[in-house]
Amino acid sequence: MTRLFLSISHLKGVGKKRFEIYQKIGISTPYELLYYFPRAYRDYRDPVPVAETPLDEVSVVRVTITDKHRPVYARAGMQIFRLDAVDDERTPLDIRIFNNVYSYRALEIGKTYAMSGKICGTFLQREIHNPQVLRDDENPIEAVYPQTTGLTSAMVRTNIRECLEILSQSPFETLPAEILEQFDLMPLERALRAVHIPEDMEETEKARYRLAFEEMLRLQIGLRLLKERGGKKTEYPMDPATDLKPYYDSLPFTLTTAQQRAVEEICADLSGESPMNRLLQGDVGSGKTAVAAAACYFCVKNGCQCALMAPTEILAGQHFKTLEEFLKPLGVNVCLLTGSLTAKQKRECHAAIADGTAQVIVGTHAVMQKAVTYQKLGLVITDEQHRFGVAQRTALAEKGGVPHKLVMSATPIPRTLALMVYGDLDVSVLDVKPCGRKPVKTYAVTGKLRARAMQFLISELKEGRQAYIVCPAIEEGELDLRAVTAYAQEMQEGTLKDWRVGILHGQMDAQEKDEAMEKFRSHETDVLICTTVVEVGVDVPNATVMVIEDAERFGLSQLHQLRGRVGRSSHQSHCILITEHANDESKERLRLLSSTTDGFEVAEADLRLRGPGDFFGSMQHGLPPLKLADLTNAFMLRDVQTAADRILAKDPALTSEEHHALYMDIVRLFAKNGENGLN
Ligand code: ADP
Ligand code: MG
Repeated sequence: MTRLFLSISHLKGVGKKRFEIYQKIGISTPYELLYYFPRAYRDYRDPVPVAETPLDEVSVVRVTITDKHRPVYARAGMQIFRLDAVDDERTPLDIRIFNNVYSYRALEIGKTYAMSGKICGTFLQREIHNPQVLRDDENPIEAVYPQTTGLTSAMVRTNIRECLEILSQSPFETLPAEILEQFDLMPLERALRAVHIPEDMEETEKARYRLAFEEMLRLQIGLRLLKERGGKKTEYPMDPATDLKPYYDSLPFTLTTAQQRAVEEICADLSGESPMNRLLQGDVGSGKTAVAAAACYFCVKNGCQCALMAPTEILAGQHFKTLEEFLKPLGVNVCLLTGSLTAKQKRECHAAIADGTAQVIVGTHAVMQKAVTYQKLGLVITDEQHRFGVAQRTALAEKGGVPHKLVMSATPIPRTLALMVYGDLDVSVLDVKPCGRKPVKTYAVTGKLRARAMQFLISELKEGRQAYIVCPAIEEGELDLRAVTAYAQEMQEGTLKDWRVGILHGQMDAQEKDEAMEKFRSHETDVLICTTVVEVGVDVPNATVMVIEDAERFGLSQLHQLRGRVGRSSHQSHCILITEHANDESKERLRLLSSTTDGFEVAEADLRLRGPGDFFGSMQHGLPPLKLADLTNAFMLRDVQTAADRILAKDPALTSEEHHALYMDIVRLFAKNGENGLN
């Protein structure tokens, strides 16, 4: 094996300290360092006139030295060297070098240098501090790496040069020749060199394209391999003729056509040859739980257990209630397993799971823990799957055989991206809302109208409805955000003094949260003042008003999720967004939200406004982070699909020599993200 894959500590200049810094940013081999990409480039051929340099920022200037002053010895042995210089326009620049006699000596009076450094001083007299001077033998375009304490771009550049040396001694390619040719991609070594030591920005652009392509391809093939892995024969085959009629009959409503279709797709998977791996995607309020319950019923009738995993205790509790309500009358035993059970309760629960008395197990990640042994776990459902990520999505598979898997998500992903993000899953979509639902009316108002908004809220309470008020922070301070506790108290004593106010926030313990939720659900409280804890999945159909304070603080998708807490019955619901400090961008967001209730439209807009990095960051999709690839580049995505198809058609498990490097990259990529599926 080449030195590329040995420890990075073998590189020159990488001692204990730098090694640790590299470790911290996830780099342990020279190969990984080569994939640490610059965040920008500094072009010494393109200097900024001194008079135009922005203060307190790094700029490249080109100046001629006019004078050198004697060193000044300041406090504690600090040496300050000063030089005078001017640029082409005769604007003076004061050069200051601290503690570095070599840099000082290297600069000669009368000579002209390109240099970069932080510009300080005033608008009248500019200074450059500790400039980096371009030497004649150096590349005039310089890569600038992400800022990390203790690790300068210069250090990274030196280390990367050595890595590139190692690479050139034993050339290496991760993509098959025909793919390079078909999609006109640059060879790996050239691409890495062009990205780190650019000579021509056009070439560098092409290099970045190739590396982004490769990055997306790895992800795409990795996800497809995961899916294939699920393509083994199932150990839990089920009978397609299992009768769901008792379930349908016991429901208090009729399933929508979309729900029926999803149930059919799921039951077909469950009775198929290989384990199910399906995503159930449906906007908030589309009725995913009733579909999940159908799947549980089907499974239990086939003698298997089901686990339903929710991201929060509140949600787990709510699902438990719903499933129990739907399934208990049919003789199905549902149990709740969360972290907050007492030791004794836990033991009993574990015993019931082990001997099969517990048929449907609802809980938080507690259902995944090692201590839990299932008698026969046939189906695992994860709700609001974006909170878990790919890693957890597969982790449950390790419990016994490979169970069928259903993940539910309310995060609408723009269609162009769905395949990329969920490449390992089949998809069922709930695109019809239960009938009788009226779209939530949404208004964005400034604080001046708060009193009016509250009057409206009270008028709804008088009709027997309930309301949520969401505040962004829980402690007073931070700007003038309305802290939940203070806010609630103020409300209870003032505007809402005739009403029963509940409170819910993340700092409460599980039991307090449960109680608050339960009181609201059973209408012992009229108004729930809360943080975004209620964002995910909470279902109280009688609530028809959602007031969101400081709405400009939330992202579009989050606001859409919050709004989804109302509009869950045949009553008209309202969402009021209150803002005090909206800038143009947040106004645009709020306007958009008022104009549509379609989750996909909201998601597309969110993506457009925030860009893919933020969008995916906030989604917690659980995919490995992308460094270069832009998931919104539909053209590249299409080519990547084609390339993945070709490679997998030829070599489905990536076992051939030609694909070895690519395969190893994929394994490493997924291993880093806690993925255990590919080895
Ligand atoms: P989500 O998809 O957001 O998880 P839920 O499963 O919480 O939605 O369902 C939202 C509400 O709609 C629940 O109160 C549920 O009982 C109700 N519901 C689900 N399906 C139907 C239907 N077909 N007809 C009427 N109400 C339904
Ligand atoms: Mg839900």
